[in-house]
Amino acid sequence: MAAGIIIIITVSDTCYKNPTNDTSGPTLVELVKSLFPQSTIQTNIIPDERKIIEDKLKEYCMKNADLIITTGGTGFSNRDVTPEATRAVIEKEAPAISVALTIESLKKTPMAMVSRSVSGICDKTLIINFPGSKKAVIECFEVVKPILHHAIEIIKNDTKKVKSVHDSMQGHVCPHKISSVDVTKVALRPRESPYPMLEMTEAFNIVDSVMKKWVGTVQQVNIENGLGYVVAESLYAKEPMPPFPASIKDGYACISSDGAGVRRVRAAVSAGDSFDLPLQPGECARINTGAPLPPGADCVVQVEDTKLISATPDNETELEVEILTAPKPQQDVRPIGFDITLGDPLVTEGAVLDAALLGVLAGAGYQNVRVRTRPVVAILSTGNELQDPSEVTLKPAHIRDSNQTMLKALLKEQGYTSVCMGVARDEAGALRASVAAALRTADVLVCTGGVSMGEKDLLKPVLTQDFDATLHFGRVRMKPGKPSTFASCQFEGKTKYIFALPGNPVSAYVCCLLFVIRALRVCEHRNAEFPRMRVRLTKQFQLDPRPEYVRAVLKFTDDIPSAEVLGNQCSSRLLSACGASVLLEMPPADKDLRCLAAGTVVPAIITGRMDLN
Ligand code: AMP
Ligand code: MG
Repeated sequence: MAAGIIIIITVSDTCYKNPTNDTSGPTLVELVKSLFPQSTIQTNIIPDERKIIEDKLKEYCMKNADLIITTGGTGFSNRDVTPEATRAVIEKEAPAISVALTIESLKKTPMAMVSRSVSGICDKTLIINFPGSKKAVIECFEVVKPILHHAIEIIKNDTKKVKSVHDSMQGHVCPHKISSVDVTKVALRPRESPYPMLEMTEAFNIVDSVMKKWVGTVQQVNIENGLGYVVAESLYAKEPMPPFPASIKDGYACISSDGAGVRRVRAAVSAGDSFDLPLQPGECARINTGAPLPPGADCVVQVEDTKLISATPDNETELEVEILTAPKPQQDVRPIGFDITLGDPLVTEGAVLDAALLGVLAGAGYQNVRVRTRPVVAILSTGNELQDPSEVTLKPAHIRDSNQTMLKALLKEQGYTSVCMGVARDEAGALRASVAAALRTADVLVCTGGVSMGEKDLLKPVLTQDFDATLHFGRVRMKPGKPSTFASCQFEGKTKYIFALPGNPVSAYVCCLLFVIRALRVCEHRNAEFPRMRVRLTKQFQLDPRPEYVRAVLKFTDDIPSAEVLGNQCSSRLLSACGASVLLEMPPADKDLRCLAAGTVVPAIITGRMDLN
């Protein structure tokens, strides 16, 4: 999108009086910057005054701002008037934006019911109200992020871009788009692939060296959305954990120097309670796991090591208990900082956020983490024979598109999100338009089909002739996946990367794992390799002249796991990948070795989960 002006307005009396209170505005600026790196972002802090809000909105609409996001003043209190001011300015409401914000926010908190956000358009400016809290701002931005570019383009009447997005969403793009690929001389097509056959290691090296040049930045994610991201900054404990001496047991907090014997039960402390008056010698306090030790206490005696001596007649209160064995100082106490001391490293730069790390960050008060950005990935299927999977009845000579669904899920399994761009027909103009729409949306395009030797396999010429793409490779010595193609090109001022994979579902599956996942990991500066292990074949295996990646499940019955090949390995039979936890790396056959016997140990790439079924 052309660089425009985006305005962030914090509407809040308190922030107006003291701008240092404004955390939502700066957060929003960071989020907007990551989505619109070329736009000029201006900020404002104004009080909850309807007239002032209206005037500001009008001023920026007059200046043709592309987008105004307000934060604050959307609630029920009588000073909250941002929605009223917005409604007075907009000419058209955009109720679906507000509905989407409400639906998503309600999933997080019922408090979303007390937000009254309004969205709409004034002339060429889109105005959206966000609630005032920083958390809400982050969540709401995630909701509107996917439509902002497109919405602004429509409002600005950027017909070229709008059309390409619409076309790509229809699945079939306009077939009249002009391609420079000449498809008329079928008889003159090459009978042998003009692309050199690369070895796997060469192909991997090329992917690594090309993708290393992808310039990523840093973005802030809320910990709720952080799973799988690579952390871009080391974070340290800002407070000790536990922040108070905490009981490890349900029992009695005591003074250890009192030794064994009878104690007066002074009080009860449950988790979450605090207790001010110090214990006196001879006293104890009933305590629960996770509760803070009362001042003066230095140990906990678990309930199993005590005996009730006396209680109130109604048995509701213990009066005296006997401590059966003399406790030691600090017995069953987690002192301050036992788990995490102040200043301890919590997460180091380069770590991948997993469930436990996210829990650690949540416990340490970090709501947001700076992480390495990832390329946006788009998936495109190609083929005249393809129907949408939702279509019940197949037309003659048609099949349903399984690759988009499979690839999106495969990327997700490996931790990456992607957008599906539909199906393009095997026509140069249609391919050109679909590829253009995808490249406008994404940094990395994964398309399937149309890269083999048929006269309808037009993707390679479309990439080179219409997009001036450099084909880094167009053929790899591997099975499945021989025609795998990797290209890059300049598109609207940015470098784009294209993985054009063969259409057979298993080829697409294996090549996505081996090339695309690798590429995405390189972009995040992670180790690009899958881990490997040694496994034992349960049956003999006929080798192919090409190195073969064979889908298998593992059985953990022996010291070396045994690998059961998942049936017929034909590249169209996606059932051979169902439940696969490894790709066996079979060596190419040569004149001395045509078959591996049962019991042979082979290397396996661990690509899936190791569930014991
Ligand atoms: P291609 O790579 O276009 O020559 O296609 C090779 C084989 O894969 C053909 O049998 C296609 O019908 C099939 N195929 C291509 N794309 C898909 C897809 N998206 N889903 C399922 N099968 C496909
Ligand atoms: Mg095809």
